[in-house]
Amino acid sequence: MLNIVIFGAPGSGKGTQSERIIAKYGLNHISTGDVLRAEIKNGTELGKVAKGYIDQGQLLPDALIIDILASVLDSFKESKGVIFDGFPRTIPQAEALKKMLNERGQDVSVMLDLDVPEAELIERLIKRGQESGRADDNMETIKKRLVVYNEQTSPLKDYYKTEGKYQHINGVGTMEAIFAEIASAIDKL
Ligand code: AMP
Repeated sequence: MLNIVIFGAPGSGKGTQSERIIAKYGLNHISTGDVLRAEIKNGTELGKVAKGYIDQGQLLPDALIIDILASVLDSFKESKGVIFDGFPRTIPQAEALKKMLNERGQDVSVMLDLDVPEAELIERLIKRGQESGRADDNMETIKKRLVVYNEQTSPLKDYYKTEGKYQHINGVGTMEAIFAEIASAIDKL
């Protein structure tokens, strides 16, 4: 069972590289951001709550996002493993993930940290906003998301180092070169 946490700041390429990992290793994919955007599109109550946080560049409360994660995880049957994309984003979320996996006799296999300098993140996110129209990819919200990442999410690097699960990945370069580094890390597991 391969349980991969794909980690990195907004714009680090988590979604793009997740697609490649799925294609090569046949894993299930959970992107909490995609789940929330689908809820917003469908006009659900959860979507309305989520929109308030997303538009402000803030994280949803841990309890809410952990419940969402648990229900998606339960929907996977006969899974070869899962890519967790955009989750965990806080220490309590990482602890909840560990507990959920341990209860299933599993654990996180590796945390892949896509490392991209901040100037390049901003450039990529502005470009994505222009191309996709994603509402939170505007300069004001991008800046808030990067502050939230630095304060609340980046401490997870030390958490996974302590767990012996941390793997640095150079997130700058061609998509192929980045994926080659990822695949070699996964193949060593
Ligand atoms: P993403 O697509 O992963 O960049 O997520 C977009 C937005 O959804 C984030 O800026 C948060 O507002 C919210 N979100 C996604 N995943 C989480 C999470 N694990 N915890 C809290 N909020 C989240």
